Amino acid sequence: MPRKKHYEIGLITPNSLKAKRKRVIRCLDPKCGLKYSVKDYTILYENKKLMYFDASSILVKSKAMICHDCLFKHILALSGPNKIAKVVIVNPDNKTAKVCNFYPNKDKGWLKENEEDGMD
Ligand SMILES: [Zn+2]
Repeated sequence: MPRKKHYEIGLITPNSLKAKRKRVIRCLDPKCGLKYSVKDYTILYENKKLMYFDASSILVKSKAMICHDCLFKHILALSGPNKIAKVVIVNPDNKTAKVCNFYPNKDKGWLKENEEDGMD
């Protein structure tokens, strides 16, 4: 059983962007730059197609707003190839936290994992 590492990451919800009067969201990873209007992000987010995260706990703060693909890459780079990384994702809208396990060899299963937990 691989050892687990633990990280805490903030979810960037469409509501939190609207509260800050943002109109666009862009992944700050220099290799990615994935950009959407907040309007489009709201739709993608609600359909669980896309999530952005505030990863300032693991990255330089000015570059910490990243998309889920980049978060996955960064977490795996930190945790190493054979370890399961335990990531606590905090939702700023309702202050709930959900725990996702990042498996090195699986792709996006973690996005849908434990969906029901902590959402009541
Ligand atoms: Zn990205």
